Amino acid sequence: MHAEKADILAQAPSQPGPSRRLAVGFLLLAVPALTVLTAFGIAPGAGVPGIESARVEQAIELPSLEPQPAPPPRFTAQERVMRGDTVAALFDRLGIRDPRAMEFLRGDATGRAIFRQLVPGRMMQAETGTDGQLLSLRYFLAPTSLLEVDRAADGFTSRSRAVSEPPRVFYRTATIRSSLFAATDAAGIPDAIAIQIARVFATDIDFHTELRRGDRLSVVYEMIYDSGELIATGRIVAAEFVNDGRTYHAVLFSDDEGGDGYYSLDGSNRAKAFLRSPVEFSRVSSGFGGRFHPIFKNWRAHTGVDFAAPGGTRVIAAADGTVVSAGGRGGYGNAVEIRHGGSITTLYAHLSGFARGIRAGGRVRQGEPIGYVGATGFATGPHLHYEFKIGGMHQDPLRVALPKAEPVPARLRDEFTRVASQARETIARVASAPPARFE
Ligand SMILES: [Zn+2]
Repeated sequence: MHAEKADILAQAPSQPGPSRRLAVGFLLLAVPALTVLTAFGIAPGAGVPGIESARVEQAIELPSLEPQPAPPPRFTAQERVMRGDTVAALFDRLGIRDPRAMEFLRGDATGRAIFRQLVPGRMMQAETGTDGQLLSLRYFLAPTSLLEVDRAADGFTSRSRAVSEPPRVFYRTATIRSSLFAATDAAGIPDAIAIQIARVFATDIDFHTELRRGDRLSVVYEMIYDSGELIATGRIVAAEFVNDGRTYHAVLFSDDEGGDGYYSLDGSNRAKAFLRSPVEFSRVSSGFGGRFHPIFKNWRAHTGVDFAAPGGTRVIAAADGTVVSAGGRGGYGNAVEIRHGGSITTLYAHLSGFARGIRAGGRVRQGEPIGYVGATGFATGPHLHYEFKIGGMHQDPLRVALPKAEPVPARLRDEFTRVASQARETIARVASAPPARFE
């Protein structure tokens, strides 16, 4: 039963990742190769008496099987800007390995805007070739303004333009029967929005263990269309989640610096100063406290929590802070330790490697990638070992009381009240619509 619920997030099918992009490439390459093999496979059987030889020759000859230049594969990927992100880090996640493209963006009057307008939540889409060379890039400089970069015969071209229509707003409601993704699928809510829902409410609802049959969600979200064609998933504007009889709200509010944030109706920030889990879409494989150690074969204190996740999964900083150390650390393997406000430190161990720019003394922002799940040090398989210390004392990161992030600032209070009451009315209308009834 626990395993079934733990799968709630693991089912996210649209998680962009290198494996999915690779799969497309292999498929494209594999098809012609298999066809050739099949042709050769037919030939030996042709010697069996009773089969006319003429047919055999035809089968071998098939002229269309001569090596045809397959169209070079194009890989498409899309990523959202995270807090503390850089263009280089985004390129990395999108699979772009193209120093000339980066050089172009830096030197180009239009392209340069990307460095100034890297706002968390905005979308970047890229098409790349087999070697990671950039073929095309699309970035939302603003919710309705696009920067487009295309590979040309000699270099790149760029342009920025307004999206031809304002974001379309969708209203949906769904009831949980088995999992979050099954419910959102049935209600026609895109996976990218379902993932945002899980993130926005993650501070109140543990989607691994606390989802209940009959839980209900209502959501208002944007989709971006250009000349009638859907080009990107937009943002959640407002949402309500009824979990186990308790109702939670999230309202999108942009501060005067252009940053999007989600707040409860009372103006408190939905984000926590610390993330509960530094690996997205993982499950806890070993809790805090005593356990039988799989390598040392004895009972010992487990001073952290283990999150099972595939090797290479991004590990993110649980909160803003300063990197104390990043490097090899005995049984911990490759580890990063971060000092946060107060006397809190967090430690991330068994990493396969470190994210670009992570070194002792550097600043990190909450949600910024710091490394990748691995199995270095004393580890039986890929997982993240995560420790949370206050004043040097180990705490259970899943249970320790976490401080909340900053509420809506006083100077924006009136504006927020107006936005929030509008959101409350809209959500009430959506929630009262008949829920999508699918098992
Ligand atoms: Zn551990």
